[in-house]
Amino acid sequence: MIELLGKSLSELQEIMVSHKIPKFRGKQLIDYIYSRFIFDFQDMTQFPKSLRDWLEKHCTITLPTIIAESISPEGNTRKLLLELSDGSRIETVLMAQHYGNSICVSSQVGCAMGCVFCASTQGGLFRDLTVAEIVGQVVLFRTLADEAIHSLVIMGAGEPLQNYNNTVQALQLIHEPYAFNISYRKMTISTCGWVPNIYKLADEGLPITLALSLHATNDTVRRQIMPVGARYALDEVLEAVTYYYNTTQRRITFEYILINDVNVSQDEAHQLGRIGKQFPNCHINLIPVNGNEHIQLYKPSNKDMNTFKDIVSSYGVSVTIRKEMGDAIQAACGQLKAAHGRKEEIHE
Ligand code: SF4
Repeated sequence: MIELLGKSLSELQEIMVSHKIPKFRGKQLIDYIYSRFIFDFQDMTQFPKSLRDWLEKHCTITLPTIIAESISPEGNTRKLLLELSDGSRIETVLMAQHYGNSICVSSQVGCAMGCVFCASTQGGLFRDLTVAEIVGQVVLFRTLADEAIHSLVIMGAGEPLQNYNNTVQALQLIHEPYAFNISYRKMTISTCGWVPNIYKLADEGLPITLALSLHATNDTVRRQIMPVGARYALDEVLEAVTYYYNTTQRRITFEYILINDVNVSQDEAHQLGRIGKQFPNCHINLIPVNGNEHIQLYKPSNKDMNTFKDIVSSYGVSVTIRKEMGDAIQAACGQLKAAHGRKEEIHE
């Protein structure tokens, strides 16, 4: 079967032409999928019956299946646990922000990176998502939300720069006016610091925002909570991010998780302020850790978090403490999946 989801207009046209179907049917297919959200070939009534039957026999448009859903009490954060065609499960989150709908997409099933504060990595990496599976999360939420998606972050399960080609290809399709028409400036790729592909992404010429999961201001603490820190030293990571900034001129976002007794001393706040100061217009997102029975890490007191923030801010850097939108719906990476079991591990 030929998977049509995730294919660009020219790829669909090629499929049509190679099967002796007129090229213009490719554009009609794209419109059915991304503008009219019609996925059943027999409902594509602009097509003659013979083409509908051919599509049904040889092609597929595979959307993930919804297994579980959590909605925050305020109704503005909606998280889905989705099952893919091989039984693997991923999470996707839709957040209604004041500026529009923002969607948080996964790039892998599981994750190899082993960050100690993250539920997504507890079963290790199972596999990369395909282009269709990355795009499918957006298509599904677009149909459910029934209104445009304003922005997109690749910040769900997985290290997107490890699944580089599929991630970039999916974003290129999502950007197309015939698909979701989301500007690259409203897309963010979050990385734990996969250095070679930060350079590669910088050279891609796409003005995507880069978010670095920094989470520590020295190598000792970073290695303790992020095993990737043993592969790439902090200096190397920051050098790559500097290259990204200089090449794209895009504002860098730094993510910094606040873990009591681990990375929240006043010295670390000063060091974080000094790091932020090196990147004009950067933003630092402080994220209180979201512990659970599997992740026994605790957030600092509100007073300590505010002191930390004030010190960072004293360096003239834009810094906020992320509102804990997700707490009530287990929105921290991987927690909904953990609560419902990890089906792909049952398959292993
Ligand atoms: S925080 Fe991101 S990179 Fe780290 S283990 Fe979780 S999904 Fe992977």
